[in-house]
Amino acid sequence: MRTRIRVEQDVFTVRQIGREVAREVGLESQDQTRLATALSEVGRLLVAAGRDADVVFTAALAGVPTLFVEMAHPVPGDSVQLSAQLTQVGRLVDTLEVGEGETGTVVRMSRRLPPSSPALIPGRMDEIRDRLSGHVPGTPLDELTVQNQQLIAALDEVRAQRDDLARLNAELEETNRGVMALYHQLSDELEETNRGVVALYAELDEKSVQLRAASEAKSRFLANVSHELRAPVTAIIGLGRLLADESSDKLTDEQARQVELIRSSAADLLSLVNDLLDLAKAEAGRIEPTWSDVDLKAMFGQLRGTLRPLATRPEVDFIVDEPAVPLLRSDEVLLAQILRNLLTNALKFTATGSVRLGVERVGGDVEFTVADTGTGIPPELHERIFEEFYQVPGSQALSGKGTGLGLPYARRLVGILGGALRVTSVPGEGSTFVVSLPVSP
Ligand code: ADP
Repeated sequence: MRTRIRVEQDVFTVRQIGREVAREVGLESQDQTRLATALSEVGRLLVAAGRDADVVFTAALAGVPTLFVEMAHPVPGDSVQLSAQLTQVGRLVDTLEVGEGETGTVVRMSRRLPPSSPALIPGRMDEIRDRLSGHVPGTPLDELTVQNQQLIAALDEVRAQRDDLARLNAELEETNRGVMALYHQLSDELEETNRGVVALYAELDEKSVQLRAASEAKSRFLANVSHELRAPVTAIIGLGRLLADESSDKLTDEQARQVELIRSSAADLLSLVNDLLDLAKAEAGRIEPTWSDVDLKAMFGQLRGTLRPLATRPEVDFIVDEPAVPLLRSDEVLLAQILRNLLTNALKFTATGSVRLGVERVGGDVEFTVADTGTGIPPELHERIFEEFYQVPGSQALSGKGTGLGLPYARRLVGILGGALRVTSVPGEGSTFVVSLPVSP
């Protein structure tokens, strides 16, 4: 679409045509006014400078559909002044350039079409061209009327936007107030909670100090009492032995039976007192391990020798494996004590089958296994048997009475050596106690 500007009247015409073109290609109402205003402003400047200009409207369809307008006049040398005068107009369109060549000065403007605009297929372009060529330019008064209407509409819109903005501001302020109130409430609550937590911690600290003191007092009491008991009980055993001695006065059968009873009761008592004393020492932290490289082959040999007398039943195989780990950094006495406790238990509670001691390396640990095919322990009691004095109800030791202190003591000692003691067991099938100790304590 082309047209020309020569006289003032043409400026109105270009303005009208510009608006029509903008509407036909799909620009929305405000953009139509913007483009028309830009055209009329450039036209006005050109007419004022006494230039005749050609105006060409082009629609570029490749990429983002865009409307281009070119206003060219044949006199070169205007571009600098025109550029300065058109800075405001540039804001009304997407791009505005003033160029200059041998043929004269050219003002080029472009405006992208919105995605909602109808596709500018060839048929549609013909239609637009037909409609525009039939366009009858109105009078300046008509144009003024349209301009006034547009101005009123624009002012209305500005006011509506200002009202919207004020409303949004008020809402924002309200929200801010709400957020601040929430924030204050939350930080108050947090402070309150923090105070509670701090108080709780202080109470816990105090309780744990009290508990530690109570447990120390218990251990001290146990240690003292058992220590005090040991001497008289040992004396009773000695005196009993003396009474039963051949060189002493002959006892009647009944007296001999009574004295034997006293001796065996005193022996039981002594073993209880000794166990209690050991446990109290371990609990009081009075057992310090003495680290050395322990020769496990030698230790296994010793255990085999000392415990064989307990393995009296021919139906039970007492097997001590060759140690798969020859040396271990540990405390020899404590380790032997632990294994002895576990093996004694296994022999006590196994009527047929086997009791087996082995050791192997598992990851960063060395695991000692004491496995038996004895009575087994119900799963719900696997932890309770490590409590002091606890004995599985109805479990009958096949030899010796036991005090219920062996396992808690063994677990304490394993802890002192930096390891863990655990059990797996199925009633009727047997039990396996595993002592796992770190390779480097
Ligand atoms: P006790 O002096 O009675 O052996 P322990 O603390 O060594 O005391 O063991 C506690 C209880 O755990 C035992 O009385 C027994 O009921 C059970 N127990 C321990 N070892 C075994 C085992 N190898 N097989 C079956 N029961 C066991």
